[in-house]
Amino acid sequence: MEIKPRIYESHLQAVRDNLITLKINDYEAFKNELKRGNIAFDVIPHEPYQLSDVQRRKAYAMIHDIADYEGYPDDIKKITLKEQFKAITGYSDFSLSNCKKDVATAFIAFLVEYCFKFDIPFRFKDLTNTFDTERQVYLCLVHKRCTVCGAEENIEINHEDTVGQGMNRNHIDHRGHRLEALCHFHHFEFHQIGAENFAKKYHFHGIRLKSEDIVSLKLMSWKQIHEFDEEYRRQKTC
Ligand SMILES: [Zn+2]
Repeated sequence: MEIKPRIYESHLQAVRDNLITLKINDYEAFKNELKRGNIAFDVIPHEPYQLSDVQRRKAYAMIHDIADYEGYPDDIKKITLKEQFKAITGYSDFSLSNCKKDVATAFIAFLVEYCFKFDIPFRFKDLTNTFDTERQVYLCLVHKRCTVCGAEENIEINHEDTVGQGMNRNHIDHRGHRLEALCHFHHFEFHQIGAENFAKKYHFHGIRLKSEDIVSLKLMSWKQIHEFDEEYRRQKTC
């Protein structure tokens, strides 16, 4: 059986004599194929304003996960999700085969928020390439999912910045720390490889939360928050 070479979307970067430099959109997939020994590939030009291959695949994967969870065929669910998205955002009709990049970005964001809102399990693969990372970290904290793998079991809140030695762990103002939700496995890995390597490997950082979120996550009570604010005021006037 003849194996068709995989086709990658690319952008022309430079031409120097007969040396042509192309930037491949889905570099991760390209690298993985090479590692597997599949060296035959083809490149096609990509319109910079048109959605990318990664976006298209991510949108379809998310539609599939939602349809699967809710028990609908993919094509039926795709229609209703697009209708809902258009009604909420005001975008006009679009096709995932050739829509603009910003429409795809907004549609993927809609699908991600939908999954978090209705507690739908979905694959996190490619999420950091297609969705606002800071928002991902936030949603994972609020909905208690692992920011790396999306797991919903055994979620622990990690302080990205080390809590100082000798500091009383029960007397911490969590508002001042960068937080991230991790499953037990990834939390363990964080401490194994260290904050810097962890951020490099998974491409995100923890975020500082507002008081309301800190309280609803039961990290602190309003009473503790007010006590800290009182302490800061005292320190200022000293
Ligand atoms: Zn995890």
